[in-house]
Amino acid sequence: MRQPLIMGNWKMNTSREEGVQLAKALAEGLGSVAQEVAVCVPFVYLSDVKNALAGSPIAVGAQNVADQASGAYTGEVSATMLADCGIKYALVGHSERRSYYGDTNQSVANRFCQALKQNVIPVLCVGETLDEREQNRTFQVVDEQLDAVIDAAGIEAFGKAVIAYEPVWAIGTGKTATDEQAQEVHQYIRQRIAERSAAVAEKVQILYGGSVKPDNAKGLFAMPDIDGGLVGGASLDAKGFLQICHSV
Ligand code: 13P
Repeated sequence: MRQPLIMGNWKMNTSREEGVQLAKALAEGLGSVAQEVAVCVPFVYLSDVKNALAGSPIAVGAQNVADQASGAYTGEVSATMLADCGIKYALVGHSERRSYYGDTNQSVANRFCQALKQNVIPVLCVGETLDEREQNRTFQVVDEQLDAVIDAAGIEAFGKAVIAYEPVWAIGTGKTATDEQAQEVHQYIRQRIAERSAAVAEKVQILYGGSVKPDNAKGLFAMPDIDGGLVGGASLDAKGFLQICHSV
């Protein structure tokens, strides 16, 4: 049985104080739960939020990680630095990185490998745009995004990683994929992994992201191949996010 994982992605939001207060409210409100909970926060607040969550089971993640180990890469944050700060997860290949900052399948694969090397768990984000869905290219796009990482890291790496399926057309739009639409792609992803390793496919957590809200989380999380959520906007509200955490 896979453990459910609910992850917030704060994106480029909150002040330092707001972030700390949000983290404290989550720590106080979560109670004891069987599922894993994590928040992916802006780099500059990682240590503050980590301190605010001391003693709580809520883990902290970064929203990106460099594709190189160290050196003259101005503005980048390495996996070693994240590990040094006790950061458990790093998102790689979020669609906003792919579309606004030029992350390619190859650079995403490199980021994934860098994170793994430092025992930071990479959360590989994949998903199609509306155009690609309308052209029936969803599976092809997801395949290309997955294959680049499988080729670089090997299938066994997914035993120590998380996948997030985030259809681009559902991100920040209020337009969630239906439970069935999401399940169809999750099942496809798991099957693609199973073609290489049944054991890894059984183990890997696949999260759904894209307008997850307190009122649609339960239905999504009840689907057999959806192991939790990657929550954007709704993770900025403690009450709503806690409700989502309790929807598994
Ligand atoms: P929203 O939940 O705001 O649609 O964002 C989803 C997302 O991009 C999480 O990484």
